[in-house]
Amino acid sequence: MTTDDHELKDLYQEVIIEHSKNPRNFRAVQNATHSAEGYNPLCGDQLTLTLKLSNNVIEEIGFIGDGCAISKASASLMTSALKGKRPEDALTLFTAVRTLLTCGPSAKVTPDEVGKLAVLSGVSEFPMRVKCATLAWHTMKNALEGGNVPGGKGNPASTEES
Ligand code: ZN
Repeated sequence: MTTDDHELKDLYQEVIIEHSKNPRNFRAVQNATHSAEGYNPLCGDQLTLTLKLSNNVIEEIGFIGDGCAISKASASLMTSALKGKRPEDALTLFTAVRTLLTCGPSAKVTPDEVGKLAVLSGVSEFPMRVKCATLAWHTMKNALEGGNVPGGKGNPASTEES
């Protein structure tokens, strides 16, 4: 392991711990236009994502639920990153993050694309936790694509690839 790897690992742990202890956007969005629920049976992580789309921009986004540190930190990082973005950019980011999580830091994803989310690449070292980290992203994708009625029970997001 090189020094860079160690630094990345420290940063990864620091950011994950900080975000899980103090999650950003941990709330239900009022007057949400889109929502979805996600559940990761492997770990027991569950979350409800709500967002408000206005003029094709994600104006507000929040999540509630309970899960492990990685699932919370990932949802926290995701909601922070997506606020103010267009849905199509959010879905591009989804693909980039999924690549990062499954392929690790060597993934061909430019730092510009993922920004701070690059810390999530540390999760790739722990294959058991990858689904914890992707849960929020799958749920976000479902919310954007499904546009579930707020408060309604849409199809729960699955962390299984179909
Ligand atoms: Zn988990």
